[in-house]
Amino acid sequence: MLQQTTVEAVIPYYRRWVKSYPDLAALDRAPLSRVLKDWQGLGYYERARNLKAAARILVAGNGGRVPDGFEELVRLPGIGPYTAAAILSLALNRPYPVLEANVRRVMARLLRLRGPLDGRADRKIASALSSLLPRRNAGQFNQALMELGALVCRPASPRCVSCPVASYCSARRRGEQDSIPPRKTKPALRVTAAVAVIRRNGKVLIQKRPDKGLLAGLWEFPGGKVEPGETLESALRREIREELGVEVRDPVFLARVKHAYTKYRVDLHAFLCRAAGALRPSPRRLWVKPAALRSYAFPAGSAKIVEKLIGSDGRSRPRAHGR
Ligand code: SF4
Repeated sequence: MLQQTTVEAVIPYYRRWVKSYPDLAALDRAPLSRVLKDWQGLGYYERARNLKAAARILVAGNGGRVPDGFEELVRLPGIGPYTAAAILSLALNRPYPVLEANVRRVMARLLRLRGPLDGRADRKIASALSSLLPRRNAGQFNQALMELGALVCRPASPRCVSCPVASYCSARRRGEQDSIPPRKTKPALRVTAAVAVIRRNGKVLIQKRPDKGLLAGLWEFPGGKVEPGETLESALRREIREELGVEVRDPVFLARVKHAYTKYRVDLHAFLCRAAGALRPSPRRLWVKPAALRSYAFPAGSAKIVEKLIGSDGRSRPRAHGR
């Protein structure tokens, strides 16, 4: 849960998670839809999917226990060298260096590594850490280093005056702490999308995303990207025609929500509408009462639309456009 997510954001999720899934067998038994729903809001859903897949493997082949060897751990879905080292050092105090973003930054500054934090830098950092790591309390050492990076040796404006390792820091000695590591400037990809909340007989249509790729297996409202030269409404009509093979009728603006997914900044515009044509339900396409939408796992942007739909008077508006 902590990969790419702050501790503050994770705590309530973690508490609910260990209550719902006290052991690997419980996680293995739970349907994927429930696991994704419990993950909703944390983002990077591949992590939830991998946790569940790893639980399946360990319940079937390792008596429901987490292995305590590096090689066995990295064979599990979602566990790479970083996570394996974190599990072994934090849970079992084994002397493995944990190379995550905070540690990389602290070490790059301590060692004055001025290039990008790539594989070459990682090898230098790992080699320096293996001579620094205590044989005992490796977990505490790794956590201290991560905490130092999160609270003191921050990406911008490191607090060198209160840093406990300032006297060892080569970057600080040269006044280069602000330029190490070099900044990566990758602008986020901006996407404007129009989606249809199609109503029929008091229910709305939702569909499941493909099982692979971005936001795999989550539910969403049909629609898609607004192409250059299109208005929101013309994009909506085209997308629904292409995706569902029907024409949109009487679109009425419902809500605009913005959300960031990994490298995307999505600007979603939702329209209440009807569809001219039959849309039969299937395992990947459902008609659902608005009040029941909260029990499905949606990406954060679509979840905001669900709340707008339910909160924007789920009785009077739908009646006006729904039949
Ligand atoms: Fe980071 Fe400054 Fe401490 Fe060096 S002295 S490790 S740059 S906080």
